Amino acid sequence: MEMMRNTAKLLWLLMIFSDIVPFSCEKSMRERAIELMQDARLIDGHNDFVLQLRILYQNRLSRVNLRELNRTHTNLVKLQAGYVGAQFWSVYVLCSAQNKDAVRLTLEQIDVVKRMCNSYEELELVMTSQGISDSRRIACLIGIEGGHSIDSSLATLRMYYDLGVRYMTLTHSCNTPWSESSSKGIHNFYPSVIGLTAFGQEVVKEMNRLGMLIDLSHTSYSTAKAALNISKAPVIFSHSSAFSVCNHSRNVPDDILQQLKKNKGIIMVTFNADVLACGRKVVNISTLADHFDHIKEIAGSESIGIGGDYDGVERFPEGLQDVSKYPSLIEELLRRGWNETELKGVLRENFLRVFREVENHTSVTSKWNHFMVWRNCGCPSIAVWLCSLGQEGMLTPANQFNSCHGIGLLFKRLLP
Ligand SMILES: [Zn+2]
Repeated sequence: MEMMRNTAKLLWLLMIFSDIVPFSCEKSMRERAIELMQDARLIDGHNDFVLQLRILYQNRLSRVNLRELNRTHTNLVKLQAGYVGAQFWSVYVLCSAQNKDAVRLTLEQIDVVKRMCNSYEELELVMTSQGISDSRRIACLIGIEGGHSIDSSLATLRMYYDLGVRYMTLTHSCNTPWSESSSKGIHNFYPSVIGLTAFGQEVVKEMNRLGMLIDLSHTSYSTAKAALNISKAPVIFSHSSAFSVCNHSRNVPDDILQQLKKNKGIIMVTFNADVLACGRKVVNISTLADHFDHIKEIAGSESIGIGGDYDGVERFPEGLQDVSKYPSLIEELLRRGWNETELKGVLRENFLRVFREVENHTSVTSKWNHFMVWRNCGCPSIAVWLCSLGQEGMLTPANQFNSCHGIGLLFKRLLP
């Protein structure tokens, strides 16, 4: 009798523990993910919600409450539940608008982002890395998806920058007169363009000069390689994944991931199920996490960010149906052994580092331009001497620029 009682007790204890132990582990992983995200709120590289505002509401914000809208993957309550701290709103117009009304349509999409972000207290329009760091709300940033939006005009590109655009994807699913897309056979624009033309290279240099991030998602491999070779600042893929895990033309092959690592840029991994799974029926968080693991192995965790592509495509992995679900991914990566520093990088710090470098590159470029103007018009001997100090390694490039810039300013003041 006693033995039976002990066996029953043991069974009872086993039943309780088999329920409790996995449950408490699960819970603590979830808690760790949430704590991490409270500390490092996500900067997401790509969301097509404003395209939905055009399709569903013709951009009339008065017709819709963005807090509780449920026809889309995105609303303000869900963004907060997903610990989103900054969102790049994609300004996208169809390739069919190329050479027609693409510029007007792009301006209308920029307008709706600005109106949206100015009319909800949860949101705040920012244009700098510092703006993201300072914001306690959801920082709004603007990215143009597709080089056809500039209508082959550098002046238009510069005006977009003035309006607050901080990245441009060089192509969408169509070639432009100056850049080749990864999509073949969808549109018939400029089929003979390969990689970047001479004008395409000027676009990249002008983006460097302006301090606009160069986005290589949707570009062909030749375009991506050319841009990585030319760009003096880090670049991004705002929403792409790993070609070695799923051989989709939207994904990035290992040799380009290695080039990206050298460039110190980042790939913001997309949640688009079709790009993740290559036709597999079951696509879940684990499928997505495989892409993260692979990219980490090839390029390091410091080359990774997140670009969900919500409201841009139909299908997402199970458990990641909308913008409130980001914590589930972080939970899975914790479970796979990613440490907190790596994950804070993925959530936020890696992108901020890239953005700062792109901004700093502009200030160095403008100092250099100032120095060149000064050198050409005034004091060649001092300039040549400073250059020689730089070449001999006695001045770092930054100090060289600063000295030149300082003397240049002084010289300018002394001149009538
Ligand atoms: Zn896209």
